Amino acid sequence: MSKFYVVATPIGNMGDITIRAIEILKNVDIILCEDTRQTKKILDKYGIKKETMSYHTHSKLSKIDKILKLLQEGKNLALVSDAGTPTISDPGAMLVSKIKEHFNSAKVVLAEAVQIIPIPGPSAVIAALSASGLPTHEFTFLGFLPHKKGRETLFKEIAEAKRTFVFYESPHRILKTLESLIKFCPIKKVCIARELTKIYEEFKTGSPAEILEYFNKNLDKQRGEFTVIVSY
Ligand code: SAM
Repeated sequence: MSKFYVVATPIGNMGDITIRAIEILKNVDIILCEDTRQTKKILDKYGIKKETMSYHTHSKLSKIDKILKLLQEGKNLALVSDAGTPTISDPGAMLVSKIKEHFNSAKVVLAEAVQIIPIPGPSAVIAALSASGLPTHEFTFLGFLPHKKGRETLFKEIAEAKRTFVFYESPHRILKTLESLIKFCPIKKVCIARELTKIYEEFKTGSPAEILEYFNKNLDKQRGEFTVIVSY
């Protein structure tokens, strides 16, 4: 039976990789990477010399067929993304679904079955929540917010719900999102987790208006990677 590992890798600090993840990456036949150049950095750091193959959002269906064939031949594969946990706002969810669909089908004999195994580790959403100080017993993860359709409805839902919301945001859109929060959820608490696990890691908590003021006064803080938490 071949194995397909979904392996979490660092979201900044290169030390954030598990011993098990390193072992798996050393021992599989091929590593599927969102960007092979990005993954090379972590492979080089841990002395992993392994064949890599790209698998990203724009990969064609023929690439999925190729991966299914490799698994059918008994190869063990690992999937990694550029940072964090694959399939979480990252490529791979469709691939995992297709593997399950294919190997669960009656046409595939048991000997060709594949085990899909998560290798847990960093994920920005969990890292941000864990040190935010905001309620985490119940939360909704929104991935990246829609730019247009459904955006206003979503902000209205956030405003009305008594639970925590988390989403990913780009530096180009963070101010726009804060403006929307001021408009729709002015009394909510916002925590911005910026550059998690990196040198300039920062958690900034306040009302949407306070956070916007902070970013407007500190232009250098508008750069980097952001995870946004909105709570009550
Ligand atoms: N799969 C990844 C995970 O498990 O964390 C998320 C991938 S998603 C394409 C990338 C987004 O995650 C970034 O745009 C940012 O919003 C968030 N993110 C990733 N690394 C981060 C970090 N070090 N600090 C804060 N947010 C981060």
